[in-house]
Amino acid sequence: MTKRHIELTEKLWDYVLNTSLREPPLLRRLREETARLPMGGMQIAPDQGQLMALLARLIGARRCLEIGTFTGYSALVLALALPPEGRIIACDVNPETTAIARRYWAEAGVDSKIELRLAPALATLDALLADGQESRFDFVFIDADKENYDGYYERGLRLVRPGGLIVIDNVLWSGWVADHRRKDAETAALRALNAKLHRDERIDLSLLPLADGITLARKR
Ligand code: CA
Repeated sequence: MTKRHIELTEKLWDYVLNTSLREPPLLRRLREETARLPMGGMQIAPDQGQLMALLARLIGARRCLEIGTFTGYSALVLALALPPEGRIIACDVNPETTAIARRYWAEAGVDSKIELRLAPALATLDALLADGQESRFDFVFIDADKENYDGYYERGLRLVRPGGLIVIDNVLWSGWVADHRRKDAETAALRALNAKLHRDERIDLSLLPLADGITLARKR
């Protein structure tokens, strides 16, 4: 098939960031602090954060759900984009990385917008469903352990309202999803979810080859 996308050289990518990235100093500081951690590569790219903030505003998001918080960059960029009454439920299991998150949320003055739930996310999502929260969320961001992505997606799809958006991170997984020599469980889980979403009539779909691959799924 003919390539219809522009070749993204380092030089062009620098141009894209230099002429479009609007990262507030506090977010930049959090990103730089996180980059020094052993698992710093797990945090989202700043341009991705800017896109997510734009999408949240486009759909008028008020209630957000984040699955996988790490050091809090994505929750912070979303919280800053939400109206004053906006709320985020953030799911993670790591008290150390989320302590960094809490420090930056407080410094940004958005800590009252973000409720951190330190527990396995599947249990938190099941508790929200049991609590009658079906279709109560506008925006769901999935960025936790890849082997549970299908479970997060199915629960997220019930929790998000029709017209709401699910954003799924790392769907290209360093390109390994298209490398059939890779048979590890994480790659297999992402490959299976990508294939499932392709034919999933419950959503409108776009897979963006940005960052490590971002899927946008709008609930019909
Ligand atoms: Ca990620």
